[in-house]
Amino acid sequence: MTLTRQSSFQARDDENKPAGSGSLYLVATPIGNLEDMTFRAVRTLQECDIIAAEDTRQTRKLLSHFEITPNLLFSYHEHNKAASGPELIRYIIEGKNLALVSDAGLPAISDPGADLVALAINAGIPVIPIPGANAALSALISSGLPTTTFTFAGFLPRERKDIRTVLSSLRSAQGTLLFYESPHRILKTLAHLQEAFGNRRIVLARELTKRYEEFVRGTIEECNAWLLEHPPIGEYVIVLEGESKEEAEVAESAWWRQLSIEEHLAHYEASDITRKEAMKKVASDRGVAKREIYNTLLPKD
Ligand code: SAM
Repeated sequence: MTLTRQSSFQARDDENKPAGSGSLYLVATPIGNLEDMTFRAVRTLQECDIIAAEDTRQTRKLLSHFEITPNLLFSYHEHNKAASGPELIRYIIEGKNLALVSDAGLPAISDPGADLVALAINAGIPVIPIPGANAALSALISSGLPTTTFTFAGFLPRERKDIRTVLSSLRSAQGTLLFYESPHRILKTLAHLQEAFGNRRIVLARELTKRYEEFVRGTIEECNAWLLEHPPIGEYVIVLEGESKEEAEVAESAWWRQLSIEEHLAHYEASDITRKEAMKKVASDRGVAKREIYNTLLPKD
């Protein structure tokens, strides 16, 4: 990797920038409440030559609210990013300033924006953030859970096996965990969280900055019961308490800590018990469901 330096202050005459090129502006938009649009975001969208948006219909509504008439509104999303990304980069190299927006909040968070940023950096194009609303951080700061260290996990994958793998890897993450979730999957996700982490404290942050903004704080079981009585509607961030000091100490001092699951299992199998019993012991040591151990040991294709 070659070290590169970008000074946004001097972005217009940055020495690394291809001659005559424009810049890529990452413009935050509100996550519900239009008053969260910043003055700088409005000005940047007014001044840029091109606005690239995840959903152009959605963005048109926002632009018309702020009386911004885009010179060119370009679609950039998960399904066209392979073709659209390089095309946008060409425009910037030709001298156009481009603003990237997502449907809501910060672009490049749980959307394909990060790919465009990587392309821009590779091409020597200055990347300039225009910060603003973000659902995960708004949920975190109002959760009441520790904010010193946290891990943003975004959306969980769809497949049960993949969910388990991701959650298992998050068991060693430090601090509070943040997930995005849709209302129709939230109950299932709570079940997965409980299976992976036990009955920890969580906060369901719903419809942030909107009229029906709500925070439900309790254990996973309590929040699950709440959702059964109050069917989920709207957008959610799940904030999950991190590993407690006691849990961390127990895990840290565990004799099997340095072993892989295979080595851990081999240890028990050597003591003349069945594989099924050995898996049960491994699962119990690690505080996870037996199925999770079984899935990890399945041959990978
Ligand atoms: N770029 C956005 C950001 O900076 O927060 C996130 C976009 S992601 C595609 C959409 C997810 O963010 C939703 O499914 C939901 O989990 C979360 N989200 C967005 N707006 C929200 C809101 N107003 N209240 C709660 N969660 C929200």
